[in-house]
Amino acid sequence: MELACPHCLAVNRVPDDRLTDAPKCGKCSSPLLPGKPVDLTAASFDRFIAKAGLPVLVDFWADWCGPCKMMAPIFQQVAAEMGTRVRFAKVDTEAHPQVSMRHHIKGIPSLILFRNGQEAARTSGAMESHALKRWLASQGIQ
Ligand code: ZN
Repeated sequence: MELACPHCLAVNRVPDDRLTDAPKCGKCSSPLLPGKPVDLTAASFDRFIAKAGLPVLVDFWADWCGPCKMMAPIFQQVAAEMGTRVRFAKVDTEAHPQVSMRHHIKGIPSLILFRNGQEAARTSGAMESHALKRWLASQGIQ
């Protein structure tokens, strides 16, 4: 499997059965699957999504949004549990409005699941962890 590094975006080849062994980037030594959401920017978003290897769940959020703040620790917790099966990322919609506009984000928090660089599913509104995991399971990720 080829995984883009969340830090330097270098594409690393990792055997599928080594994903749970805390693989590190060959270029910058950052953890490839850090077990927590990675922050994407307008500059990194397209390359990371295209080269993610695994499905990517992106949380579109903003600092002023109360439900986003409620959702943040839940998203972090599910990332810690499921971070070797799906990659977790966040986009600050205030800092990177062009990314959210391109993906037609109407309300936040919004979650978009990308597979092979394409949107596969989306949902919006804050969710408890069991609801988030059930939604991921409905997309074949558990
Ligand atoms: Zn790297």
